[in-house]
Amino acid sequence: MKTKLGLLYGGKSAEHQVSLQTAMAVIKALDVNKFDIYPIYITVEGQWLKGPQLQGPVNSVKELAFSSDQEEGALAPAIFSGKTGNGGMDVIFPLLHGPNGEDGTVQGLLELLNLPYVGNGVLASSAGMDKVIMKNIFAEAGLAQVDYTSFIRSEWEADKEGAYEKVEKQLGYPCFVKPANLGSSVGISKCRNREELEQAFKEAFLFDRKVIIEVGVKAREIEVGVLGNDAPEVSVAGEIVPKKDFYDYKAKYEDGNTALIIPADIDKETYTRIHDMAIKAFKALDCAGLVRADFFLTENGTVLINEINTMPGFTPFSMFPLLWKHTGVEYPELIEKLVNLALERHTEKQ
Ligand code: ATP
Ligand code: MG
Ligand code: MG
Ligand code: MG
Repeated sequence: MKTKLGLLYGGKSAEHQVSLQTAMAVIKALDVNKFDIYPIYITVEGQWLKGPQLQGPVNSVKELAFSSDQEEGALAPAIFSGKTGNGGMDVIFPLLHGPNGEDGTVQGLLELLNLPYVGNGVLASSAGMDKVIMKNIFAEAGLAQVDYTSFIRSEWEADKEGAYEKVEKQLGYPCFVKPANLGSSVGISKCRNREELEQAFKEAFLFDRKVIIEVGVKAREIEVGVLGNDAPEVSVAGEIVPKKDFYDYKAKYEDGNTALIIPADIDKETYTRIHDMAIKAFKALDCAGLVRADFFLTENGTVLINEINTMPGFTPFSMFPLLWKHTGVEYPELIEKLVNLALERHTEKQ
C-alpha cells in the first residue's frame, strides 16, 4: 500500500519562494512506488488550493504555484480529504517556513483534523518561531547565548529615543535587530551606530509587531541537524562561511557563493559541546521530528546557541539535508525517515 502524502507548501509568509523550491525538490526525491503525492498550495494571500495527484517530478516552481483549485473546495480542512475515492491523506508534510506555517498555526489545524504530520508540534513550532520566547526558554535551560532585549511596536512608538538608549546601554554596538518571528534573515540588520539602529528598527517592524535586539558577536557559525522524536540524533557539524558581512537573505538564496563546509573543522570537544547543547535545546522546546540548531563559536572557543529552526531549509542543497548526507542519510531516505517519525509520533499520542 502506498502512503498518501499531502505536500503543503507556499504559504502566507516572506519565505513563500523558498518553500516552492523545497517542494519541487521533495517531489523529485520521493519514490513514486512508495508514495502518492498530493500537492496543496497556499497562496501568498493565504488561499488553499489542491492540485491533482502528481505522477512524477515537476519541472518548475511555476507548475507548483497553480492558480485554481483543481479538485475541491478551498476550505482548508476539507482539502485533506478526497472526494474521488482517495479516502483522504495518510500524512502531511508541511513544507512551510516562517509565520503561518512553521509557527504552530498549521500544526494546530492538523492536530484538530487528527492527521499525522512531519516535524514539530504546536508548542515547539510556535516557541521556536518567536526568537524572544525561544531565547527565554534556552536561558531557563541553562544554554549559553548572546545578551538580548526586545520591544513591541507600541513600546517603541511611545518612546523611540528610550528604546535606542536602552539598546546602546545594555548591548552596545555592533548589534543585530531582527523581527521576532521570521527566518531566512528577512528583516535582519547589523547595526554599528545610532543611525543604523534607527533604520534597523523601522525595517524589522515592517515584518513583525515585535523585534529582538542581540549583541553582535564575532564568531564562526556552526550548525547541526537533529532528527528523531524521544531519542533524537545529531548530525555531523557544518560551518557557514558567508562572503559578506553576515549570512543575509541574498547570501542564502541568491548569491550561491556562501561556502558550506561539512564536516566543520572543529575539535572533538567542541563538537561534543555543540551536540549536547543541540539535544538540550531540542528537549527544552519539546521538539519532534527535526530541527536545525545554529551556533556561534567565538574566537576564545565559547559555544553560544543562536537559534533553532523547526522547519529548516530543505532543498538538497540546504544545510540540513547536506548535514545528514554527510552523516550517512541520503535525501530520499531522510524524507522517508521524517514521514516515519511523523507516523510514530501520531501513534504514540493516541
Ligand atoms: P534562518 O532561520 O534562515 O537560519 P533567521 O532569519 O532565523 O535565519 P538568524 O539565524 O538569527 O536569522 O540570523 C541570520 C544570520 O545573521 C546568522 O546566520 C548570522 O550570520 C547573523 N547573526 C544573527 N545574529 C547574530 C549575532 N547576535 N551576532 C553575530 N551575527 C549574527
Ligand atoms: Mg531561523
Ligand atoms: Mg528559519
Ligand atoms: Mg539561523
